[in-house]
Amino acid sequence: NSNEMTIIFDSRPENEGLARVAAAAFCTQLNPTLEEVADLKTAVSEAVTNCIIHGYQGEVHKIRMKCVRKERTIYLDIEDDGIGIADVEKAMEPLYTTRADQDRSGMGFTFMEAFMDEVKVTSQVGKGTCVHMSK
Ligand code: ATP
Ligand code: MG
Repeated sequence: NSNEMTIIFDSRPENEGLARVAAAAFCTQLNPTLEEVADLKTAVSEAVTNCIIHGYQGEVHKIRMKCVRKERTIYLDIEDDGIGIADVEKAMEPLYTTRADQDRSGMGFTFMEAFMDEVKVTSQVGKGTCVHMSK
């Protein structure tokens, strides 16, 4: 008993909303509460924004979002082929940001971890980053 969807979209800021709504629509098959949908949307929003701002640094390339449902769990993979992260553990610390100059607060990963049950990041410098989440 499972279901799956993958969307690939340009790393343009307006597509952040598209990804958020697509993930929310996908999860409605589980009859989630409004709070659960809101949590998922926040996590998607943070991950996609990171791909746009950090991964591709404003250049337009592709972002992939895979949504899988297995039984009552939603798994999300949000992936870019951008610059990658040298020290994932450090990047995930609250308040850590490499873009303090651009009004970033370094809370994206902290929010993802707060709103999802599990968050795992795999990354290779120069190759890209994938954020795996489930709820
Ligand atoms: P905020 O999310 O609060 O606006 P932020 O994006 O800097 O600030 P996080 O989302 O927690 O904070 O990310 C922490 C750091 O991890 C970023 O500053 C960046 O250096 C790195 N990072 C996150 N996602 C990516 C990515 N997809 N590609 C490359 N680097 C990333
Ligand atoms: Mg962020």
